Amino acid sequence: MKIEKDICMKPFSNMKIGGIAKELIYIENEEELYKVFEMVDKYYLLGNGTNTLINDTKLDISFISLKKLNKIEKKEDKYIYVESGVDLTEFTEFMKKNNLGGLENITGIPGSIGGLINMNAGAYGTTIFDKVEKVRLFRKDLGIVEISKEELGLRYRSTLIKDNRWIVIGAYFRLDEGFDEEKSNDKIEKRKNNHPLEYPNLGSTFKNPENDFAARLISEASLKGYRIGDIEVSEKHPNFLVNKGNAKFCDVMKLIEHVKKVIKNKYDIELELELIIIGDDGKCFNY
Ligand SMILES: Cc1cc2nc3c(=O)[nH]c(=O)nc-3n(C[C@H](O)[C@H](O)[C@H](O)COP(=O)(O)OP(=O)(O)OC[C@H]3O[C@@H](n4cnc5c(N)ncnc54)[C@H](O)[C@@H]3O)c2cc1C
Repeated sequence: MKIEKDICMKPFSNMKIGGIAKELIYIENEEELYKVFEMVDKYYLLGNGTNTLINDTKLDISFISLKKLNKIEKKEDKYIYVESGVDLTEFTEFMKKNNLGGLENITGIPGSIGGLINMNAGAYGTTIFDKVEKVRLFRKDLGIVEISKEELGLRYRSTLIKDNRWIVIGAYFRLDEGFDEEKSNDKIEKRKNNHPLEYPNLGSTFKNPENDFAARLISEASLKGYRIGDIEVSEKHPNFLVNKGNAKFCDVMKLIEHVKKVIKNKYDIELELELIIIGDDGKCFNY
């Protein structure tokens, strides 16, 4: 494993906010997972950081990355095994090259396979688990195990993996024959048109409440463009918060609280966080 000490976490969150962490540990093979959890106290498992807001003070936390586990392999029975550190974009390229499909709708989600599996990510009616059959995990109680998707408590943007902080090592996919390039490109276009990709952001801030859309509620409450310091409710997609310069962690927290309060007062709806927030003490909100 490779360990970097006193590392600035700003580049590791897609919001480009983050303080100095005790260490960042890169796992280089799965056996190292047995060792690492004996070494660390407070830790956070980091994928691509596209859903993670990091406090900008001193962080007494060991960040653990599986980015170096990044193989895609064809296995028997037409399974494709994808390690957790692979980007969805790389996996999409693989599917295109090998003419395999079924996940075109989620093209362009900027996460790692580990991050996507952990929170059951999805878009346009498809979720990553639509084509996953089982997941290879590290559990502190059992070590390395393989668990079928039926046993993973799948629900909207959540899984038992997330509830229990299990570590995704990789996933076995069974894909359809034929990659629909037009559908995939269409989703990339839609993202460019609908998401404020020109600014650092973490995707959707809040989960959609039942039978409604957080973006619609925020927009109707006239919160588009509402700004505290350098953090702003996006005009383009009101469920996104965008960093317009040098936004501070405390301002993001104030803005999240403000939006929640306005929505609660106006609609009596309690918005639930989709993004994950890491406090300076290693405690995570929405975990
Ligand atoms: C522009 C933009 C658009 C987005 N669009 C969508 C969308 O359409 N649909 C959607 O669902 N999400 C979307 N997201 C959110 C985000 O990309 C996804 O949630 C993605 O799954 C997060 O992956 P990550 O690797 O960046 O995870 P991180 O932010 O690094 O981590 C997120 C969570 O996953 C956990 N995690 C990371 N790696 C592992 C692992 N190996 N094992 C277990 N847990 C792990 C972390 O501990 C954390 O709890 C978007 C984000 C952005 C910035």
